[in-house]
Parts: sequence; structure tokens; C-alpha cells
Amino acid sequence: MTATSAASSGHSTGNGTGIRLNVDRSACAGHGLCYGGYPEVLDCDDQGDPVIVRDPLETAAEIDAARAAVQVCPERALTVESV
Ligand code: SF4
Repeated sequence: MTATSAASSGHSTGNGTGIRLNVDRSACAGHGLCYGGYPEVLDCDDQGDPVIVRDPLETAAEIDAARAAVQVCPERALTVESV
């Protein structure tokens, strides 16, 4: 019996998978800094509200962009979480 398969325990952190970007619409003021700067992970709807375009985030570049978007949001309306 060889048991070499791994990584099926439910959640992972920091390895490029299982990260989600969330927007708190009640906190968002619609500046557009997030989707203007990081269109690979955020777009906007007709009202100018941000829309998450990748859920969950899949690549290291997407995760980096999401974390950068969190940093530029002056309202702290964006968060990332492990999923
Ligand atoms: S930067 Fe923050 S406040 Fe501005 S649109 Fe994006 S989520 Fe909303």
C-alpha cells in the first residue's frame, strides 16, 4: 500500500490556493481604486460598485493583486480570507 497522495484535509493557507477576496458593500464608498488598479481580480457594475471576478483566487499573481487591493481601499471594505 502506497499512500503518497496528500492535501485533502480541507483548507490550505499560503500555497496559492483557497484564498477568497470579499467586498463589504456597506463599507464601500465606490472610489474605484480597487478595480481601477487591479482589474485582474475586480471589476465594477453599472453603479460603480466593485465586483469580484475571481472566486476563489487561483494564482499567486491574483492573490498578490487581491492583497494589494485590500491595502489601497481607504474604507477597509476589502478583505481576503482562506477558504
Ligand atoms: S477601493 Fe474600497 S471603497 Fe473604493 S470601490 Fe474599492 S472596495 Fe469600494
